[in-house]
Amino acid sequence: MREVIMAKYGEIALKGLNKNTFEDILVKNIKRRLKALGGFVYTRMQSTIYIEPQDESIDLDEATDMLATVFGIGAIQRSAVYEKDMEIIKAQCVDYLKDTLEAARTFKVEAKRSDKSFPLKTPDIQVALGDTILDAFPHLTVDVHNPEITVFCEIRDKGAYVSAGRIIGAGGIPVGSSGKALLLLSGGIDSPVAAYMMAKRGLIVDGIHFQSPPYTSERALMKVQTLCKKLTAYCGDIKLYCVPFTEIQEALRDNCPEEFFTIIMRRLMMKIANRVADSNDYGALITGESMGQVASQTLKAIQCTDAAAQYPVFRPVIGMDKKEITDIARKIDTFETSVLPYEDCCTVFTPKHPKTKPVLSEIERAENAFDFEPLIEQAIKDIVVYRYKVGAEE
Ligand code: ATP
Ligand code: MG
Repeated sequence: MREVIMAKYGEIALKGLNKNTFEDILVKNIKRRLKALGGFVYTRMQSTIYIEPQDESIDLDEATDMLATVFGIGAIQRSAVYEKDMEIIKAQCVDYLKDTLEAARTFKVEAKRSDKSFPLKTPDIQVALGDTILDAFPHLTVDVHNPEITVFCEIRDKGAYVSAGRIIGAGGIPVGSSGKALLLLSGGIDSPVAAYMMAKRGLIVDGIHFQSPPYTSERALMKVQTLCKKLTAYCGDIKLYCVPFTEIQEALRDNCPEEFFTIIMRRLMMKIANRVADSNDYGALITGESMGQVASQTLKAIQCTDAAAQYPVFRPVIGMDKKEITDIARKIDTFETSVLPYEDCCTVFTPKHPKTKPVLSEIERAENAFDFEPLIEQAIKDIVVYRYKVGAEE
């Protein structure tokens, strides 16, 4: 029996003239993702990528799980491939569907006939296959509204495809189809979720992390590295720029009014991120800020931080509650790592009474009273870059 995985397009199916470009990137991303499992043959047809294993030992369940995190795919169907002959389909699909249908109580058949030369019409295919299944598995009943299992039977250009159910894909558009952005990645819950959300819109997301040893520990860095590895499932390859931030924070503590620490620190992070973006061709910055979550994320504070950025700053979780962000963090498996209790540089020298309504001109005056430029230059020189390849989370 031939078996393939059909990866059906999500939003790409709606693209016009440049659809090909999106498809090319999607196929490349899928190949990278599945590479570790073995060889596959890839064919593009009818808004679907057919993925056929070259070797019987390849675990298609594992391949399906991996595909579920690839952006650009709307649905995933593992399917048996038959000749376009109803008698052959009926005779052979029972064995293929056996394990799934024996464990179910209700089902329905959903047929689709894109090859209009096939002699049976869609409803006839559904009845023919439904009857065959009921004969073979008498414990089953048909439930057209809420079936436990939907058996799909699709008569397409190159064959008939039968699947026991389908999985919803990750959606979005393929990573790499929108350009590159640099994410300010802390060890917290929000910024990994921000990475996921912008990768979903086609951005290659790399991370920049500020660390202040000895105030922050080696374990805090390891936590951020683990987050990067986990994110590769969705984001593909990730680069992480680690910026030594200790001297800058100490200078800040020694030279600026305490109530402004946090905002100036965030502006200095932005200024360093600008430089990294300049020299590495990133077109935007990303943060995990959420409106009103803490003092540095009030409207006025965000205005002050934003003024230091020379790129568009994307804040995909800005309108989300902590609960909504946490739900996504659990789904993408970053939550457990994010809640490990290691210090972030943001919690070093935090003011007792941070200004919640900072005024930009006052902040700039306080910041300009000290020349941070040489320290920024040095920090950029001392950046350490780590690289994580897709599949690093396994
Ligand atoms: P998170 O859960 O992502 O840590 P948070 O709720 O802790 O967010 P803050 O600590 O105020 O919020 O940080 C807001 C944003 O600033 C983070 O989402 C992240 O984008 C960025 N950020 C904070 N600390 C760092 C850091 N050490 N390195 C890089 N970016 C950081
Ligand atoms: Mg944080």
